[in-house]
Amino acid sequence: MSRVTIVGAGLAGSLLAIYLARRDIVVNVYEARPDMRLTDVPAGRSINLALSDRGIAALRQVGMDEYMLAEAVPMYGRMVHSEIGKTSLLPYSGRTGEYINSVSRAGLNIALMNEAEKYESVRFHFNARCVDVDCGTGGALFSTRSRVKADTLIATDGAGSSVRTAMAATTADYELSQVFLEHGYKELHIPSTSVWTGKVKPPTAARFDTAFLMEPNALHIWPRHRFMMIALPNFDGSFTCTVFLAHTGGNATGKERASTAHEEGSLPALDANASFDQLTTESGVRTFWEREFPDAIPLMPTLAEDFFHNPTGNLGTVKCWPWNVDGNILLLGDSAHAMVPFYGQGMNCAFEDVRVLDGLIERHGTDWGTVYDGYCQLRKVNTDAIQDMAEENFYEMRDAVADPVFVRKRHLETRLEQTYPDYFSKYSMVTFREDLPYSIAKERGNAQDRLLMQICASGDDIDEMDLDKVMASVRALA
Ligand code: FAD
Repeated sequence: MSRVTIVGAGLAGSLLAIYLARRDIVVNVYEARPDMRLTDVPAGRSINLALSDRGIAALRQVGMDEYMLAEAVPMYGRMVHSEIGKTSLLPYSGRTGEYINSVSRAGLNIALMNEAEKYESVRFHFNARCVDVDCGTGGALFSTRSRVKADTLIATDGAGSSVRTAMAATTADYELSQVFLEHGYKELHIPSTSVWTGKVKPPTAARFDTAFLMEPNALHIWPRHRFMMIALPNFDGSFTCTVFLAHTGGNATGKERASTAHEEGSLPALDANASFDQLTTESGVRTFWEREFPDAIPLMPTLAEDFFHNPTGNLGTVKCWPWNVDGNILLLGDSAHAMVPFYGQGMNCAFEDVRVLDGLIERHGTDWGTVYDGYCQLRKVNTDAIQDMAEENFYEMRDAVADPVFVRKRHLETRLEQTYPDYFSKYSMVTFREDLPYSIAKERGNAQDRLLMQICASGDDIDEMDLDKVMASVRALA
């Protein structure tokens, strides 16, 4: 029996343990944190995540998809909130059945660990931080002082990977780039109606699910050009909001804010700016929210408390190469390719990594050198593509969803998806096409986007357009 050391029992490491155990491999998983099933440790960087088709495909292969989806909240589109609190839904797809799912990070992680532990060949070791790795052998030293050497080591220890650090230190000409956005993020909370403590009476529109204070089946977004807030529904009726602001220096010039206000035609010009370093008082935070997110603030009774209590996280893209040292070590998931969260693909991509690796084990057995070389060649071009698209999507979410030409393009894409089975928007190719590599989604999607933005810039009525003609031009791109 082959023996594998996994470093990191996060989302990728726990799923990988299940996949390897199903191939009769002995697996020891070392995790720096305590067991999250026994102690109340923060699950990680976000409370909930968008799970979509690539991630679901990987869960399906080990029979975990239905279990996870049973506690997920479907999100059918982006609910865009304007500066005066007007909302409009931009569907993710024109086809029924294509939507993303809000799942609990901790719930998913725990379910994966529980499933992995059903196999006798899997053992988790908690409070065991990897502190050193011998890249020549794949042996590792942990904070528990135990030294471990299996047939190979797979590092799923996340964006700040210590295994990657060891590889970079001992590999000549190691390529490593870590690029951080000027923006950081902070998580905030909108409670469920059942625990409502706000002064304002919660909305009771009949079409809303009674537990939720906003439309439950959407990813809510408040795009404000230089910054934004989003909110994902939780199964218990609450929402987790994430505000993305520059760390320092203000988020918009007075001129930019004035011009946006003018376009909206309903807001006075605003001159004050805000970034995390400027929002230092409770009244400052309130004033900022009242101005920028007026429809959200009545739903956020613990805004100031959350704002000053919750940590501010960084957002970055990590690219590195090589990912393996012969058959001794492999980086997988965020340790190899951390990305900004704006396509909702980091976990989905990490789960796809596991599925691809498993396909190569099926072909080459436990000849780890051959498996890793094949895996890296197959995967790098695709993870580069999704990392780039994730960065681009930040600007789409922050700016474009409030841009009339972009909104018209989304309507046109919805109509194309409703009419032609072979039309997929870039978003759909990335999110709903587990059969399509990310690199192809990027190439086709960008060409399509350029064409459709050009068509929509004309200002013609989308409902009057000759769809066959538009579709012919799209097909001609292929
Ligand atoms: P992680 O989940 O980070 O797990 C790494 C594990 O390794 C952790 O348990 C950690 O404690 C452990 N560890 C670290 N160092 C050591 C060490 N030295 N020794 C032992 N153990 C160690 N992705 C999506 O698909 N959809 C989303 O909607 C989405 N939203 C996101 C929102 C935010 C704000 C952020 C920051 C990320 C989001 N992501 C999303 C990305 C997603 O969280 C990551 O891509 C995913 O968690 C990667 O899984 P991983 O197992 O590789 O790393």
